[in-house]
Amino acid sequence: MRKPVIAGNWKMYKTVSESVDTALALKPLVANANHCDVIIAPVFTALKTVADRLEGSNVHVAGQNCSTEVEEGAHTGEVTAAMLRDVGASHVIVGHSERRQFYFETDSMVNKKCQAAITAGLIAILCVGESLEQREQGTAERVVSGQLTGGLSGLTVSDLDRIIVAYEPVWAIGTGRTATPEQAQEMHAFIRRVFADGYTKTAAGAMRILYGGSVKPDNIAGLMSQTDIDGALVGGASLKADSFAQIVNFGRT
Ligand code: PEP
Repeated sequence: MRKPVIAGNWKMYKTVSESVDTALALKPLVANANHCDVIIAPVFTALKTVADRLEGSNVHVAGQNCSTEVEEGAHTGEVTAAMLRDVGASHVIVGHSERRQFYFETDSMVNKKCQAAITAGLIAILCVGESLEQREQGTAERVVSGQLTGGLSGLTVSDLDRIIVAYEPVWAIGTGRTATPEQAQEMHAFIRRVFADGYTKTAAGAMRILYGGSVKPDNIAGLMSQTDIDGALVGGASLKADSFAQIVNFGRT
């Protein structure tokens, strides 16, 4: 039985006080959400304050990125996974398409970040997904399987306990154009087969695979009705406590 995960990626939005306000507004709205893991990913500068204010609640805190380097050192502008852990993060988003696209992150860098996250005791939310062009060219599965095998290179079956996959088709991120539940299900089932082939059927069956791309309160139920969709990574709709809470509490009154 896979416990669903609903994660909010706040991207480069909100000051520290705005982040705290949203986190504190969210806390009571999702306090009874024991059916899933609830995660929010504020900007680095707000992480510690938000994590402190959420301590003891069921809302986990994630970094949006971490360094490829495990050890501290002369890497201006970088933050290690251990430093994220130190300020109260339990998860880190790795390989988001915006980082791949605008900061030229390669699968090899994403792989180092996954390894660094695991070494630090964090859970890595590994993002994969094809562009519109790649989908139209019929190479979506090849792209996604390459990102998975590249991103997870060298990881053992037991390491997979600390990995969550987020399938985020680039054409659906921030565009309002979500994949249909059937399109998402097809790719999620494919991703699970990649795990079964590369690891074991048990590991594939246990892997939590989230969908991301314009998830909103009105489309979450359709997505979650699919067998292989285990939750969502939510951008825009996670910025407001009430819409994110509606996604977390989908199907509940
Ligand atoms: C994201 O940033 O991971 C994302 C899915 O964004 P949005 O929900 O806004 O499409």
